[in-house]
Amino acid sequence: MPLSFESVSFSYAPGTAFEVAAVREVTVRIDDGEYVAVMGRTGSGKSTLSMLGAGLLKPTSGRVLIDNHDLAEGRLSAIRRRVGVVFQYPERQLFESTVKRDVAFALRGAHLPEDEVTARVHNALCTVGLDPDEVGDSSPLALSGGQQRRVAIAGVLVTRPTLLILDEPTAGLDPAGRSSFLELVDSLNATGTTVVLISHDSEAVAEHADRLLLLEDGQIVLDSATAQAFGHVDLLRRCGVGLPPAAQVAQLLKTVGRKLPADVCRYDDLFPHLLTLAET
Ligand code: ADP
Ligand code: MG
Repeated sequence: MPLSFESVSFSYAPGTAFEVAAVREVTVRIDDGEYVAVMGRTGSGKSTLSMLGAGLLKPTSGRVLIDNHDLAEGRLSAIRRRVGVVFQYPERQLFESTVKRDVAFALRGAHLPEDEVTARVHNALCTVGLDPDEVGDSSPLALSGGQQRRVAIAGVLVTRPTLLILDEPTAGLDPAGRSSFLELVDSLNATGTTVVLISHDSEAVAEHADRLLLLEDGQIVLDSATAQAFGHVDLLRRCGVGLPPAAQVAQLLKTVGRKLPADVCRYDDLFPHLLTLAET
């Protein structure tokens, strides 16, 4: 179920004095099973792009295709439901009286039998690492921030999306919550879910994503394998994207005359070089 953008542009308030061209002429294809990161400064169009990908906004021009179906066409709700989006601070949208009811919310109107809904809610909670018997009947507001975010994600997984768009999912989580969240995303990707991770977290992107799309003023200015992408230091700086820690250390070593490959951005790639440094 590849997701393709073909010359997609989107403006807010088109034709008015308040028009904002948020996405401009974006052409990109995301294939099944990929783990793609989207980076760029605030206002560069990341969230707009994610809403276009989920069919929540219609392009001003161009087409968004899932499996060769144009998302702007009617009668595509079944296909559209295969793309799940977790918005920024999703826990702010929790509102049902219990965790189970909140997770089940997206299935309303899907006309599924009651036991199917129950089974899906149970599975979704287990997938995100929450015990349905323990938290299922609690109020979502009684849980910790990290747990609330998991409930919100379960509420998207319950529709069984094959492509998951996560809009700044680790923002505001503590370090433990962040790393267990990233592990969860890895495991979803490992079991076949395509992942699009929108993030300012260079370290998370370097360690987890295979491909990086860099946005500037609504345009994709870089699309490459993550390790190569972090070699474009000047372009990244221009776009307000910092280097991951391992790449920063690699840069530092280069300035003191060490020879390192250009694509060191993960800890695992850096360690062998640190070891040879320690030996000399
Ligand atoms: P990002 O997620 O990268 O911060 P957005 O997609 O939210 O970027 O925003 C892209 C541009 O569109 C920005 O200039 C932003 O101010 C504008 N924008 C976003 N949402 C709206 C909206 N609802 N109405 C008008 N302009 C908007
Ligand atoms: Mg955003």
